[in-house]
Amino acid sequence: MDLVFLGIQGSGKGTQARRLADEFGYYVFDMGYELRAIAGSGTELGNTVKSYIDEGHLVPADIIMKVVREALEQHKKKHILFDGIPRDMDQKREFDAIMKELKRTFRCINILLPYEEAFQRIKGRASVEGRADDADDEKIRRRMSLFKEKTMPVVEKYIQEEKLVQVDGSGSMDEVYELIKQILLKT
Ligand code: AMP
Repeated sequence: MDLVFLGIQGSGKGTQARRLADEFGYYVFDMGYELRAIAGSGTELGNTVKSYIDEGHLVPADIIMKVVREALEQHKKKHILFDGIPRDMDQKREFDAIMKELKRTFRCINILLPYEEAFQRIKGRASVEGRADDADDEKIRRRMSLFKEKTMPVVEKYIQEEKLVQVDGSGSMDEVYELIKQILLKT
């Protein structure tokens, strides 16, 4: 079974995803990472993608779904942990359809963190990672409000479909990891 990690920027989902992947052998598909790699390629597509990322806007869906399809083709024999997809309801519909077509089953985890705490965590990592989209408060707030507006409906829909469990993300990295593991092992 595959896993889909959802959670507001700064919730620690990337870190938790990698840790889980190391312990349980998932291949991590990190949408933001893939897009940053394309953005750095110097191609025309790369420049287009970069302009969206740097401003904190969502990259157009046709590009997103193409990257997802390619990854699924390349890693079809592995269990995949998706981080950063689906980000809105249109992507959810397409993602669900592709997964069904390829007969891949999955469940989702949402890491919960209050808005202000998430904001402070991103500001903390900005100085370490040097990302352009973390550089000013306005861009961080834009991405966070995109999460509320576009991704929360995805979370709610997966809850209704009984595919998603929520985890309290306010503890330490180790505490959150233990919570996630408990959920995965017991369900
Ligand atoms: P992240 O590393 O998840 O914070 O993503 C960084 C940036 O990549 C986002 O702010 C978007 O510009 C872009 N991005 C990542 N995932 C998606 C997605 N599923 N759909 C559209 N844009 C995305």
